[in-house]
Amino acid sequence: MGLVNLSVLVAILSSIVSLTIYIKYKAQAKKAEIDLMTTIRRQQGMTLKYIKQGDHYIYTLMEGQLLGKMGLTSAMVTGKNLHEFYSKQDADTIEQAYSKAWNGEITDYEAHLNGIDYFVTLSPVIKHGKVVEVIGSGVDISERKKSEKILHMSLALRRTLIDSLEIGMVVIDDDRKIIALNRKWCQLFKFEGPIQKIIGKDVFEQMAFFFENNEVEKKKLNDLLVNQKPAVDEVEHFENRIFKRSYFPFYMDGELKGHIWAIEDINERKAMERGIIETKEEAVKANKAKSEFLARMSHELRTPLNGILGFSQLLELEETLNAKQQQFVREILKGGRHLLTLINDSLDLSAIESGKIKLALDTVKIDEIINECIKLIAPLADKKGISIAFEQNGNHDWYVFADKIRLRQIFLNLLDNAIKYNRENGKVSIHWDKRDDILFVHMVDTGIGIPDSEQKSIFEPFYRSDHTQGEGIGMGLALVSQLIQVMGGKVGVESRIGEGSDFWISLPLVNAQVAIDRQLMEGERPALLQGHNFTILYIEDNLLNLQLVIEILGTIQGISLISAMTGSEGMELAAEWRPDLILLDLNLPDLHGYEVFDRIKANPAYEQTPIIALSANAMPEEINQALGKGFAEYICKPIEIPAFLTVLSKHLS
Ligand code: ADP
Repeated sequence: MGLVNLSVLVAILSSIVSLTIYIKYKAQAKKAEIDLMTTIRRQQGMTLKYIKQGDHYIYTLMEGQLLGKMGLTSAMVTGKNLHEFYSKQDADTIEQAYSKAWNGEITDYEAHLNGIDYFVTLSPVIKHGKVVEVIGSGVDISERKKSEKILHMSLALRRTLIDSLEIGMVVIDDDRKIIALNRKWCQLFKFEGPIQKIIGKDVFEQMAFFFENNEVEKKKLNDLLVNQKPAVDEVEHFENRIFKRSYFPFYMDGELKGHIWAIEDINERKAMERGIIETKEEAVKANKAKSEFLARMSHELRTPLNGILGFSQLLELEETLNAKQQQFVREILKGGRHLLTLINDSLDLSAIESGKIKLALDTVKIDEIINECIKLIAPLADKKGISIAFEQNGNHDWYVFADKIRLRQIFLNLLDNAIKYNRENGKVSIHWDKRDDILFVHMVDTGIGIPDSEQKSIFEPFYRSDHTQGEGIGMGLALVSQLIQVMGGKVGVESRIGEGSDFWISLPLVNAQVAIDRQLMEGERPALLQGHNFTILYIEDNLLNLQLVIEILGTIQGISLISAMTGSEGMELAAEWRPDLILLDLNLPDLHGYEVFDRIKANPAYEQTPIIALSANAMPEEINQALGKGFAEYICKPIEIPAFLTVLSKHLS
């Protein structure tokens, strides 16, 4: 074999080797490509490639799990352009990014297809200075988009909520720069224009001049920022409006992030409060004026009434009067007493209303009071042929804690009505029952009854039912209701028209043993006047009153009465006669009764001498003041003779 043949053989052999290597290499490359494609296909995201053909970008590759999520396969996309999958608007937007990349820029875009949001980065492949294709890498951002949407919604909701508040709110950072604020805040401080304009500004510069004294305000603000404790105060805005200002430090994860202020315009509320206070003050003033008027009126009425009642009582005792004259005297007395009741009732009512009523509370055996009242009211019942029955079921010794006189007043008022509004020959029955520790006393009549619609109103002052005839001014039940309430009880009524009414009162019961013990301790009553000689000095400028007392005391043996018409004359007589008791009118022409009292009492010889005030002023304050000074007693005019004599005998014995 020649040399040539050998070299040919070598060449052939080397070709075969090269071919084998090439085939092997090819196979390896193919395998690598398949591996790569498999990897690309299996990746969570998506890889794409495109080239430009004419005016369109054509996909040469699109693989990955993301493609499947969008409901597409590689075969459906390869060789197609954007406009075949997307709406025109979306395709145009994406195309802008594609053309940027085709021009050599690395870029990205977000898109949405078949319910999937995804994000793609595009990188151009450049050969010999020319873009030959673009490779894109996409990831699924659907979850992130969803959270962003929720966050966005919640922020929008919060914003709306904060903006709809009627309270202005602002948040500042540690450098006093405004971070956030709401619409109401802008409204209150008259900031116009977009909120963004004021964000980042120093809150001092924006706010302080709105307040009366901005230096003080600045200091307050600084203190709050230093202390970082919630605080509330009221400030006056420069337009004289009052703002309520609340401060809260704002923490996140335990770290101070800012400072919140809430401002509320409370001008209207303040004005309302002021109005209420003023109205209340006016009402108090009006009430005081009414009480003063009543006190004055009652004083003016009591003085002449003293004459009418006093002298007619004396006249009643006169044996020389014939039957007709006695009847006249009784009528005068009746009219006078009625007038006196009216004056007393209106005084009582105003005293209760103004909270000035003084009660002498004690344990009271209730059947005694009821029996007493039945006795007092019996003549009235007899006149109409009305029977009064007191059924003491079980005959219990019930005791209540009450003011005896006031309780009597209550029963008399109710019994008086039960007779007044009863039919001729009707009935009044009184019975009681006990529920828990409360005693209910019922007064049932067979009278005209009260319509349902009026059963509440009758307890109002001066209310009288339209169908009511006869005497009365509608004050009795109002007084009963007020009196029973101040004694811790209640009053009510059940009634049927034409059948009658059941008025009841309730009072808390007192333990019977306690009541009996107290009564035993009360002791003996004072001795009577008879069998002694006493001198009484009466200092009084009103002749009528003087004459009346002279007449009353003139009938009693052993009493000498001396009198003076001025304070100074009274003091002289007191020094001269050393009386056993002094009756002193408080309204004297030269000196006030108190002055006379003080001067007499300044002499130690009179320390023990009882001085009794006699006055037409029946206001409780006046009575208390006099008793507080040391007067032995305070007698209100007009004088009730038996009571007057009891008082005298008490202090002379
Ligand atoms: P007066 O008797 O002076 O009118 P009261 O305050 O005692 O005032 O009573 C108010 C009103 O209640 C009476 O005018 C009457 O219409 C009604 N009233 C009170 N007691 C009775 C009763 N026992 N039966 C029917 N009506 C009554």
